[in-house]
Parts: sequence; C-alpha cells; structure tokens
Amino acid sequence: MSDGSSSVPLLDVARGNDPLRDAFMEALEQVVDSGRFLFGPDVAHLEQEVAAFSQVDNAVGCASGSDALLLALMALDIGPGDEVIVPSFTFFASVSCITRVGATPVFVDICPDTFNVDPAAIEAAITDNTKAIIPVHLFGQCAAMDRICRIAAQRDIPVIEDACQSIGAAYHSRPAGSWGQVGCFSFYPTKNLGGMGDGGMMAVRDAGLADRLRLFAGHGMRPRYYHQVVGINSRLDSFQAAVLRVKFQRLPEAIAGRQENAARYDRLLADVADDGRIALPQADPDAYHVWNQYSIRVRDGQRDELRAFLGEHGVGTEIYYPIPVHKQQCYRDEPFARVSLPETDAACAEILNLPMFPELTEQEQETVAEKLQQFYAQSSRSAA
Ligand SMILES: *Cc1c(COP(=O)(O)O)cnc(C)c1O
Repeated sequence: MSDGSSSVPLLDVARGNDPLRDAFMEALEQVVDSGRFLFGPDVAHLEQEVAAFSQVDNAVGCASGSDALLLALMALDIGPGDEVIVPSFTFFASVSCITRVGATPVFVDICPDTFNVDPAAIEAAITDNTKAIIPVHLFGQCAAMDRICRIAAQRDIPVIEDACQSIGAAYHSRPAGSWGQVGCFSFYPTKNLGGMGDGGMMAVRDAGLADRLRLFAGHGMRPRYYHQVVGINSRLDSFQAAVLRVKFQRLPEAIAGRQENAARYDRLLADVADDGRIALPQADPDAYHVWNQYSIRVRDGQRDELRAFLGEHGVGTEIYYPIPVHKQQCYRDEPFARVSLPETDAACAEILNLPMFPELTEQEQETVAEKLQQFYAQSSRSAA
C-alpha cells in the first residue's frame, strides 16, 4: 500500500548535489583542462582544508576510508602476532584492515546507549601484544576519546580513529580525527562529506607519520622506481577532490541540517519512546554529534515487523548492522571470532536506521513519525 505522495527515502543524495551542479561542473572542467588527474592542486588544497578543519597539521588523501585504515596499520608496522582492539558493531572495513595485514582483531563490546565502543572493555582487553586500538565514531558520534586515549597513552599504544562516518564531529570540543595517531575519513557518497565515487583521507598530527603514510600510499616508492617498503596504490584523484572541495564549503551547513532533523525526530517520536516501545538515539553530553545516522532501537522483537510496515508505507529504513563482524562468514573458523558480545548482539537485533540527510523535510519526518505511531496503534489493537 505504498502511497507515492507520502514516501520518504532513507537517503536522497541528489537533493544535496543538485543545487551545486554548476559549481561541480566548473570545478570538474578545471580538472579536465589542467590534465592533472592525479596529484592536482585540488587534492593538496582539500588536504589542507581537512587538516585545518580537523585541527591537525597534516592530512593525506587516499582512495577510500577502508584504505585509510589499512594504510594506518601498515605505516605503524602492525602485522602477524600483533593484536588490535576494535568493536564488532561496525562496518566490516574497521576490522578487515586488521586481518589484511595479518594481525589479530580483539573484539570488544559497545555501550548500549551510544552504540560506541566501551572504554572499560578496551582496558580489560589490553595485553602485551596490543599494538593498536581502533575506536569507531559510529553514526556521527565520537567514542569516549578522552578515556580511550588516556588508557592507550599509559601503555604507549597508538590509536587509529575510524572517523569514516563522523567528519566534523568532536569530543570535548576536540575534532574527530585529531585524537589518535591517525584519523581516518571516508568520502563515500553516503557519508557526511560524500563525493561522487570513492575517496578517503587520513588526519595526522605527526609530520613524520604523515610522510610514512604517503610513502605507503604510493607503492613505497621514493624516489621514482626505488621502493623502500611494500606499499599499495591508493590515491584520491583530482576529480573527487574537486567535487569534495565544493561540498566541503557547505559541510557546516549540512551538519546543522542533520542536527536540526535529529532534534525534530526526538520531539516527534517522544511519545512512542515514552511508552518504551522504541528507544531514541542518545547523544553523549561530551560529544558534538553530526548525525550521519538516526538510529532507534525497536524493543520486543518487533524490529523486522516494523521495518516491513514502514517499507509498505513508503518509508525507507536500513539496518546498520544486521550481523556483527565477529559473526561474519569469512571469520567463522577464526579463534578470534569466538567471543561473547551481548550488547553488540542486542544492538544488531534491535537497531533501525531512519531516513536522515540534511535536506529531509519537516513534513517527511512527520510522515515517518505518523507511520511509526500507526504501527504501534495497530499492533496494540491486535495484541488486545
Ligand atoms: C564507510 C566506512 C568505512 C569505509 O569507508 P570506504 O570509503 O567506504 O572504504 C569504514 N568504517 C566505517 C565505520 C564506515 O562507515
């Protein structure tokens, strides 16, 4: 019974991009005319802009957020025998970088209110073999970076921030990506700063480490055709950088739009949440949340039913993430996958991500709230 007039998309990237079309075309034309498809001036400028925005001295472009994480581990010489602490309630790439370099992921549970990694669990998981910690700033909200960095610093363990969903976020007013040794950003189209393809960047305080990341991102080659280390080929191309610079100028505005929409959902959904049937996302008071996702928890095992109902009524939703990384098929036989993470399992069973993007309208959000209320009005009728 999908009613086209009231349908609400999970995400509509075009609404953000369409008004910028002329600016994109002009920027892209300049790249075409320059012929500098790699290492063009837009790449260097975007690196400077993201570094300044993230309050670090260095930023290094690369081909994706996944590569940013992989390069961080490579540049820190992490490999077989090394353990890396990471949450399992995250996108796969937070973990695949670890097994890619031959190291061992040590999974830890999350805090049920923020969905972010639990600092106490990190501390308990540290061994003599711990060579890095990868906190993930999930859904646009920083993990508890003050505590995590204190725990890591006491033992000289590097912190690699997976800030792929959280450019522009902050914790205690300090930007995402500036807390750890390396901060990893993704420019995948659905991220808060989304390009028109793949792209990524690493924010780095230490100039020496930034240089090493650049070395690994360019086949370990320096000078040309002399290879110091075995790197990979991972570059942010000039076309992506040109597009991203146009969007970067509007990033604060886009974040403000997301924050307004999150606050409006909080108001519109307060009644259903008061009944305890759903739980609204909690913002850590120390976090500056940039709302890449608005994630509710659906209680009483009704998540899939609610999702189907919303889908039938034209409301797009998604489940980030249905299966925790430690239960993925590719890790099935790995000893490191044999862990018990009850909060992670509960989040996977209950989470539902509602439509969220800067240009989402008030009317669309009202429709989402109405359909949610309708679902519960129906299900309490059928239960009675
Ligand atoms: C998107 C994402 C990545 C990977 O970024 P890509 O640019 O798609 O490679 C890594 N970690 C998290 C948490 C992400 O959301």
